[in-house]
Amino acid sequence: MEERIYLDHAAAMPIHPEVARFAGQFLDGFTGNPSTIYREGLAAQEAVAIAREKVAGLVGASAPASIIFTSGATESNNIAVRGTALRNAKKGKRVVASAIEHISVLNPAKDLQKSGFSLTLAPVDRYGTVDLDALGAAVTPETVVASVHYANNEIGTVQPIREAAEIVHDRGGLLHVDATDAAGRIPIDVERDGIDLLTLSGNQLGGPNGVGALYIRTGVRVQPVLVGGGQERGLRPGTENVVGIACMGEAARLAGEEMPEESRRLRAIRDRLIAGITAIEEARLTGHPTERLAHHASFRFARIEGESIQLAMDMFGIAVATGSACTSRTLEASHVLLAIGLAHDEAHGSMVATLGRENSEGEVPRIVRAVGETVKRLRAITPL
Ligand code: PMP
Repeated sequence: MEERIYLDHAAAMPIHPEVARFAGQFLDGFTGNPSTIYREGLAAQEAVAIAREKVAGLVGASAPASIIFTSGATESNNIAVRGTALRNAKKGKRVVASAIEHISVLNPAKDLQKSGFSLTLAPVDRYGTVDLDALGAAVTPETVVASVHYANNEIGTVQPIREAAEIVHDRGGLLHVDATDAAGRIPIDVERDGIDLLTLSGNQLGGPNGVGALYIRTGVRVQPVLVGGGQERGLRPGTENVVGIACMGEAARLAGEEMPEESRRLRAIRDRLIAGITAIEEARLTGHPTERLAHHASFRFARIEGESIQLAMDMFGIAVATGSACTSRTLEASHVLLAIGLAHDEAHGSMVATLGRENSEGEVPRIVRAVGETVKRLRAITPL
């Protein structure tokens, strides 16, 4: 049996081995509720405080208190969009999002329409870069919050965040940036970039699932989405996931440390993959050719189905994605691929490969051969 090759790090990252080692101290008899004031509680509080500093450090937040821990990117996005819009509705009842945001941004934004908000989606070009003129037109003085993600999980395109921040701020709005796929992969500095709210996922940094964070710039007012106790400044009530939070902190520290070398290494593998796969007949790169995440390669193939590609690649021992893992069971065409101008049938034939620390350059020939063989077999039987 050939070894498995795992190319779906955007759906789930293996926990970093050093994070797994670090976790041991919290799994073996550790206890303590951070809300209590005796010794065990203080130890738990200390673990959360250290993690807060590490996460703040990764994204250039000078005040660790500007980081709150959540259950993941979906929750952070909900607090950022809904909580910010509702708390600041006096300014106006408008929200804006790029057309290719993750559904955990788009759905709360759409849901706000029930509370009388209007939503404008800013279009993107064929590479998935947000159209800054259109963003400028969409953001009016009544706009409370605009969401532009740092990088897209389906096509890898990295957005011009600093320019977007200027546009949004010129009109008095707040900029929320979903950095789920970008954090730990490219340097982020919330203060330099002018970001008001930033979403992070623990797993995408090499930590466990079920933990995330939201950076909220000091002074930005946000209303809780969940109500309960006063934990995490009342914005994320409920007993803290101390183990998850501590591990996310350690993952953030390691990701920052390893980023320069790891992104160089993965970029080289990615470029070889792109060169090999785009040489296959009627195969095209999706997303931006240069302004893209170093670990991200995404393609579309004429006349075949992404689901079939995924299953065939699995038989070759290779795990790839088609579109976003969050929607891949719905069989709907990806809103991201439609927004970059693909027709429905074109949008169905996509394959996404996201690399991680276990991947190596030596795997590239086997991957390219498997894709070539998959495409040939599927085209031979396609009714399209
Ligand atoms: N935002 C983006 C950009 C994502 O890619 C994802 C997940 N892939 C999420 C949000 C949601 O993350 P989670 O399912 O961990 O809440």
